[in-house]
Amino acid sequence: MPDLALPGAGESSAEKSAGFRSGSPSGNRTRLPAVDRLLATPELAELATQVGIRLVTRAVQQVLAQHRAAILGGASIPSNEALVAQTLLHSSQARESRLRQVFNLSGTVIHTNLGRALLSDEAIDAVGVAMRSFTALEYDIASGARGDRDDIVEELLCDLTGAEGATVVNNNAAAVLLVLKALGARKEAVISRGELIEIGGAFRLPDIMKAAGCKLVEVGTTNRTHARDYEEGCGAKSGLILKAHWSNYAITGFIAQVNDATLSQIAHARGIPYVVDLGAGALIDLAAYGLPHEPLPQDSLAAGADVVTFSGDKLLGGPQAGLIVGRRAAIEKIRKDPLKRALRVSKLTMAALEATLRIYASGHQLESRLPTLALLTRQRSNIRAACDRMAASISRAVTPDFAVSVEECASQIGSGSMPAERLPSAALVLRAAGKASGRAIQRLQACLRALPMPVIGRISDGALWLDLRCLLPAEESAFVKNLEGFRLE
Ligand SMILES: *Cc1c(COP(=O)(O)O)cnc(C)c1O
Repeated sequence: MPDLALPGAGESSAEKSAGFRSGSPSGNRTRLPAVDRLLATPELAELATQVGIRLVTRAVQQVLAQHRAAILGGASIPSNEALVAQTLLHSSQARESRLRQVFNLSGTVIHTNLGRALLSDEAIDAVGVAMRSFTALEYDIASGARGDRDDIVEELLCDLTGAEGATVVNNNAAAVLLVLKALGARKEAVISRGELIEIGGAFRLPDIMKAAGCKLVEVGTTNRTHARDYEEGCGAKSGLILKAHWSNYAITGFIAQVNDATLSQIAHARGIPYVVDLGAGALIDLAAYGLPHEPLPQDSLAAGADVVTFSGDKLLGGPQAGLIVGRRAAIEKIRKDPLKRALRVSKLTMAALEATLRIYASGHQLESRLPTLALLTRQRSNIRAACDRMAASISRAVTPDFAVSVEECASQIGSGSMPAERLPSAALVLRAAGKASGRAIQRLQACLRALPMPVIGRISDGALWLDLRCLLPAEESAFVKNLEGFRLE
């Protein structure tokens, strides 16, 4: 690893004779070598053959600019070797992806800011094929005619949910927007006041309704909405009734909601569709895996809903997508809306989604094939054992100012699923020994983020918690290696 500190050594006479500029009227400043001279050094010439001259030239220019500014501020001239070393480092940083791989030890499994679901090997392989090869994305091989990309997953989605039709868009927010526009534009959308939610990333139902051209009609109250509220709220201008899952928000206590069967009846008696935005959208009963129950699209459809929308990258454990399932006529109308074309998914999404749905359709070894399900169902004893294995490495890396312990904690599912529910987990907990300082813990958290592979923990109760639920056994050696040689303070 090259020395990062700005070196103070002046240039050698060998460097001068090698053609470095010196003795200019403005003194020290212009005694930095010319760009071409640095590019001609063996190290940088070699780098240029690997990554291209343009990147290396830019790196040299930026390193020199930094020194020019430092020299004006009184710093001395760096050596040629230091400039080359800094250029090598700078250019390797510049080539590093901004989509950094991180350790998600935040305790939230489906973390929107960290990319939500991890996908199955089958999905990853399918995406690889779709990227490398031509595929029958919108092509009917039997007839040689043009096909529809929805055909790839429609049958699977219908089999899994009991729907008559299905279509796919870029995400669930897009799905809600499209459904509202296709079925309810210039009409009223009737919704319970308790469901006018905002979820992460500025998804606000009232705004989506406005964008779709629907007029919002709120019925009931924040905590209690009854069937008669919907009945009174529906009129000649009503276009649809919408139910939105509470997502990352919970109302408990004195509450009343109207079930899918009743809402379907109220809507159908008025000849309008009943639409459900389920949000997280599990396809299997998670209670069978010891997890909290999450409502299923198949249940809403069986109860009479005309359209149900849900995300592909939340509990489903697939790619980012908005899945729309429902009655044949409603799906056809949605598909014909011009907005559908603007919101369509890529072949990569289709490939990953199809592979993910096939795993559900097989019903075979879901827990081992779907990484998101594997993480959610991981037992505390198993996570605790991982903490015990990792404790020594963390203890070695932190200064004696911090005490490391293994403690029980609770993970969150995340992305709006069952916000009040917690999964029993275990964490490495770092506490400031002696007089606890909140600043010290924050500095430590920043230090962990600055590691070659950033470690994302969470601060709670004045301590830094590293919930190891999402540290896969296969990643443990990488986690240890990532800490080696670093002193976290
Ligand atoms: C997450 C969620 C959305 C938005 O889904 P994206 O796939 O993130 O676009 C919409 N509605 C509900 C109820 C949600 O939970």
